[in-house]
Order: sequence, then C-alpha cells, then structure tokens
Amino acid sequence: MHRAYLDHNATSPLRPAAREAMIGVLTETGNASSVHREGRSARAKIDHAREQVAKLVGAEAAAVIFTSGATEAIALGLSPEIELSGRSLCCDLLLISGVEHPAVRAGGRFPADKIEIIPVDHAGVVDLSALEAMLARHCNAGRQVLVSVMAANNETGVIQPLDKIAAKVHADKGLFHVDAVQITGRYPFNFATSGADLISISSHKLGGPQGAGALITRNTKIRIPPFLRGGGQERGARAGTENVAAIVGFGAAADDAALKLCEEVDRLADLRDKLEAGIHSIAPDATVLSSAALRVPNTTCFAVPGINAETAVIAFDLEGIAVSSGAACSSGKVGTSPTLAAMRIEPEISRAAIRTSLGWSSTITDVVRFLEVFAQIHERLISNQRTRAA
Ligand code: PLP
Repeated sequence: MHRAYLDHNATSPLRPAAREAMIGVLTETGNASSVHREGRSARAKIDHAREQVAKLVGAEAAAVIFTSGATEAIALGLSPEIELSGRSLCCDLLLISGVEHPAVRAGGRFPADKIEIIPVDHAGVVDLSALEAMLARHCNAGRQVLVSVMAANNETGVIQPLDKIAAKVHADKGLFHVDAVQITGRYPFNFATSGADLISISSHKLGGPQGAGALITRNTKIRIPPFLRGGGQERGARAGTENVAAIVGFGAAADDAALKLCEEVDRLADLRDKLEAGIHSIAPDATVLSSAALRVPNTTCFAVPGINAETAVIAFDLEGIAVSSGAACSSGKVGTSPTLAAMRIEPEISRAAIRTSLGWSSTITDVVRFLEVFAQIHERLISNQRTRAA
C-alpha cells in the first residue's frame, strides 16, 4: 500500500543529503574538543554545519548554539538573565502569544507567575494593539520584558507579523525571541528582517535528524547563561560533547532546504491549494482554519462539523495516510488544543480539526491518495452520523 506521509509539522523524513552526510560521520571517531587530528576533523565538521545552519536563516555562524532540539533551545533562550555587550540584563517578565507551542508555554527559566499571554485574533494572529498596551504598562512600571512569538504556527501554519512585533518590543526596550521551528526551510525567513534578538530552530522539522536544534542570537554580543554547565562547549552556552552526526545531518538538511527553498514554496503551495480545493469539493461544509491569513504553504488545518478528528485520524492511518488531529498537533495527546482555544474556535470545530502538513518528500500522488481516502471516510462517518441522528 502507498503510504502518504502528510505530517511534516510533527517530523519530516530525513533528506537523502542529510543521511549521506551522517553516514560519513558515523564511521569516524573524534571528540570535537580533542586537539588531535580526529578531534580537529570532528570540530571542522561541526563548524561547517554551523555555517550551513547560519546561512539558512541569514545569521552569523558564531552566533549558533547547537542543542538537542528546539525544546532545549527554547528553554535555554527563555532566560530571565541575558548578557548584552557584557552588561547583564534582568528580564522581569516573559510575554508569549496565546498560540505558542508547549515548549514556549512552559516558559523556559521563567516561573509561571512571571508569564503573561498576548491575545490573538480569530485567525491566530497576535493582537498588536493588545501587545502595545501590555508593553506600555510594563515599560511605564520600569519592568524589563522578554517577548516570545512563533514565526509560523504548527497547527494552522499562520505566519506572525514578526517585524511589527519586533518594532513594538524594541520601542519599549524589550528583547524578542522567535520560535522559528515551523518556518525554517519552508518559507523565506531572515534573522535580520524578522527583528528577533534570539531564535530557536529544529533539525527534524526541515528534514534533518531528530535530536539536534539551535538557539541563535542576533550577534555574539548577546550571551545566554547556560543551564548545562561543564566542558564549556558552544561558546560556554551548552556544555556536553557534541552529537557530531546529528549536527552534520542538521547542517546538510539546512543546506539542501536553502538550495531548494524558492521552488519548494511554489510547489508546496500548489499541492496545498489542490488539497484544499479537493477537501471543499468533497465536503462543502468544511472549514479551513485561518485560510484568510498569511500561512506557510505546507499546512492545512481543516474541520468538517460532525466528524470527530480522532476517529478520522485512525481511519486515515488504516488506509495508509499519516495526518494529525488539531488537538494532538502540539502534544500528541488528545484533548482541546490551547491554540484553537486561544483563537476562540468553537469546540465543535476544534474537536473536528485535522492537520495535514506537506514537505520536501510530498508529491501529487500523496495528495490524490489523501483525497480518495478522505472521500471514503467522509461518506462513511457522515452516513454513520445520519443513522445515529435518525
Ligand atoms: N516549536 C514548535 C512550533 C514546534 O512545532 C515544535 C515541535 O513540534 C517545537 C517547538 C519543539 O521542537 P523539537 O521537537 O525540536 O524539540
């Protein structure tokens, strides 16, 4: 059976370029901190990957801090203490949008009572006037804030107006962290134009291996106190022997994604549009969430009233299609999605929300197969519903 994998926002298959680069490393020995030839070779590979990752987002290579993934990068970056040009800055509060991933909602090193939620509109876009009012209130009270907003949402694909948010944050002397996990390698993203001071990214969302990620600072004058202390690796920000193979795979995936980005944006948008047109023709009462907002071209979160998403996801899986339910998109657990709740989506729609997310390996065959199976499942679940209602 042809399996169609439409869950790239959960994890993307490993790109062949990443696999090849990793296999090369796995056959070699070398601790990047050692001074002998093997050590220097491992160090050179990490530094090359650092350049590749930096290039993807337009950052300085020296400002890349490799971590075990975006969750760790976020936990490291959301620090109440940040050093700017040798001066220690103490952030009193963390402001996050209502649609953040649980890794950000957990607040990093901020205690729960120092985290405030910035409201979003019905499409999940940050309410800029509400943010401005929050910033003004804290700035007038002499409080220093760190703000964290994601670039693209993992459930709906909505892209936030980062430059506008950054301008407001900086006008009130705040610092700005961006969770760029779902945008990097899928849509043009540039560190400088985003206005971010810090960003977090993940290898496995862009076709690199799981277990690698990075926190990247605007420049090397921004320093983050480590929470893993020891050997002083990664500019002293993250101790521990580097996972050379995963970092090399991350670099190769970043390089491959950067190379193909422009054509991929158009290709994925075309597949996504065909998929959404197909959904509407099979189920005219289907809603595509946030469809009027700017979205990354790979993500569709749709709901058909009366169809339970959990039931549908299992039915899709049995027919060879991997998708997620809206409620499970951020945690893998069933329940109400805090993101959809923050967007004030009606519970009936929220319970029915199914996410498809395309990526580098997706083809028209996957979309056609998805639509064939969706037509069958829709027919079956809707007729079951009619029988129950009769
Ligand atoms: N942020 C967003 C928006 C995500 O979608 C994810 C993963 O689902 C993460 C952070 C965490 O990334 P990682 O799996 O690399 O820890």
